[in-house]
Amino acid sequence: MIRIKDLDFEVSIRHNEIEDSISNIAERMNQDYEDKCPLLLAILNGSFIFAADLVRHLTFEHEIQFAKFSSYQGTESTGNVKELIGLNVDITDRDVIIVEDIIDTGKTMSTLLANLKDRGARSIEIATLLMKPEKLTVDLDVKYCAIEIPNDFIVGYGLDYDGLGRQYPDIYTVISHKED
Ligand code: 5GP
Ligand code: MG
Repeated sequence: MIRIKDLDFEVSIRHNEIEDSISNIAERMNQDYEDKCPLLLAILNGSFIFAADLVRHLTFEHEIQFAKFSSYQGTESTGNVKELIGLNVDITDRDVIIVEDIIDTGKTMSTLLANLKDRGARSIEIATLLMKPEKLTVDLDVKYCAIEIPNDFIVGYGLDYDGLGRQYPDIYTVISHKED
């Protein structure tokens, strides 16, 4: 068990299971992209460890770029604005693979997809380490999902709680305590 700030977590997915799941999606990607040279677009911060492990299984030529999709509170009229920061390559006519840590409601991913489609990519696919299918509220076609998980909050393997806990090789699930 680990404690981060006010929360306790217990191991839910071991590193070797994560590794096996990544190598499975990598095999499928190796077949699908054999003669292509896609651009992997890894979304910071959460995907940095997944991206590092994934690319070491890939046998096709590819480029990788890191970008941040951050939300900030806009004016009252615009509400919550999402902006893609740091993508400074031209993706016109490129095959793009988005590399994400986790898809929860899917809202972040669908906003990101719309943004990338506007930039003229030839194809866009999603590779995510984790997904909570029961929480998905939008229609998303996720081609490469390494691991499906229930609706619990998790940390480790790149994912954080309030900025902490990204360094753990295993994935941990929050333990909910009853109020006493
Ligand atoms: P969505 O827009 O799909 O609801 O939210 C996706 C984002 O929420 C992820 O990129 C991630 O930052 C955050 N998120 C969702 N579920 C979890 C979780 O269980 N643990 C952590 N650490 N972040 C999560
Ligand atoms: Mg993320």
